[in-house]
Amino acid sequence: MAEKYQELTAHLREIHNVNQAAQVLGWDQQTQMPPGGAPARAAQLGTLARLAHEMLVSDTTARRLDDAAREVGTADFNSDEASMVRVVQQDYDNAVKIPSSFVAEWAQVTTLAHEVWAHARANDDFRAFQPSLERIMNLAIQRAEYLGYKDQPYDALLGEFERGLTTAEVKRIFDEHKPELVALIAAIRQQSDKVSDAVLHQVFDLEQQRQFALAVVKGFGYDFNRGRQDVAVHPFATSFSRGDVRITTRFMNDFLNPALFGMMHEAGHAMYEQGIGESLDGTPLGGGTSLSVHESQSRMWENVVGRSKPFWNWALPKLQAAFPAQLGNVDLDTFYKAINRVAPSFIRVEADEATYNLHIMLRFELETELLAGKLKVADLPEEWNDRFEALFGIAPPNDAQGVLQDIHWSSGLIGYFPAYALGNLLSAQYYNRAVGDNPGIPQDIGNGKFDTLLSWLNQNIHQHGRKFTADELTRRITGEPIQSRDYLKYLQQKYSEIYGV
Ligand code: ZN
Repeated sequence: MAEKYQELTAHLREIHNVNQAAQVLGWDQQTQMPPGGAPARAAQLGTLARLAHEMLVSDTTARRLDDAAREVGTADFNSDEASMVRVVQQDYDNAVKIPSSFVAEWAQVTTLAHEVWAHARANDDFRAFQPSLERIMNLAIQRAEYLGYKDQPYDALLGEFERGLTTAEVKRIFDEHKPELVALIAAIRQQSDKVSDAVLHQVFDLEQQRQFALAVVKGFGYDFNRGRQDVAVHPFATSFSRGDVRITTRFMNDFLNPALFGMMHEAGHAMYEQGIGESLDGTPLGGGTSLSVHESQSRMWENVVGRSKPFWNWALPKLQAAFPAQLGNVDLDTFYKAINRVAPSFIRVEADEATYNLHIMLRFELETELLAGKLKVADLPEEWNDRFEALFGIAPPNDAQGVLQDIHWSSGLIGYFPAYALGNLLSAQYYNRAVGDNPGIPQDIGNGKFDTLLSWLNQNIHQHGRKFTADELTRRITGEPIQSRDYLKYLQQKYSEIYGV
């Protein structure tokens, strides 16, 4: 019974094991490894990437896919079997276009570039990073040529993170909500003296911060029997299986936000991975379906829940008990406004909900031009600064807070940024649907009860793993494709209350 399907998944599980072992090494690199380990780690990751790629593009995969496809036949589109064959066939079709030697080179170059970038950012020295970035951009263009595209090279890279999404579609979605965001931010700027976030900028004991944030994400439903938390410069979540999903955190002793909201964010990612259907675990379908859907989960817990008034109505007394000297006298209204303060800032990861998508639009513009050969890496710092100032009205004081701030390009993640903005849009779109199905969700959140929302997410999003593309999933859940309407409405409601705009 389903013998060919079993043979296929057995083979795929072996490939998955190699990939997940590489994930463990990547986690180690960013949390534990001393700097001296970088060259050897680059070689190790290069070997594993090549091995996994060779296993995926092998004749064995092609044969077992064919056999399984015949056996699965007309099985339901939603079934594990039909989904496995359909999605892995696409993975295979893409993978065979890229030579294994290129895969190894890509892994090695990007692993080494990570250290170069970290050093360049620490020293505010873009020129030290420039040769690495030029090499990566050339490899990215080469990668796009291997993969093929209809319209422009960026389509190919974007499609690796968001199956089926095109550059033109991203541009349409961005153009559709950019003017309203700009107008909203301008209106808020007129009222900027209404909100202060001074209360968040005090000295907060790091271990106390850690304990409080851990209690919050445990309350959300992040299962620590299947997870753990460590410190990293650039926080991330990573999954080795649904039984081992880890998060990392960056702590600052004079600012509450990075650890607190950062942990909520990464827990949102982690709960997605912990919620994948058991039957998909250890297979290529056993992960989040796309970056934008992943970000919809992290941003929902960080912002839609974690920056909401009902949540803080419940959580503020607990935070005050942890930090009585700093926050003992703060009222809910002041605290709520502080964590929702809108102000143009240089660093994307610290941006408020209103300005965040503008940061992404800037990167999207630069990336597509770099890939299309319209912009040179050498000219990036100047272009960045000029366009940043035009968009935000403030000029980055240096490249460390400008073009060098993000890890992504050094890791070869080009075509990745749009997912962050799309994730914001989807967070509101999905949340509205969840509340439509369960109108008691906001009240539950106000009582510290989060499982109504988490169960809905498990049921409607998490369990499906990679079965559906982001577009298929979004239409299934909300009855329409991704749109910016819900997010804009969410922002307008929030800020009309806070700023009177
Ligand atoms: Zn994220």
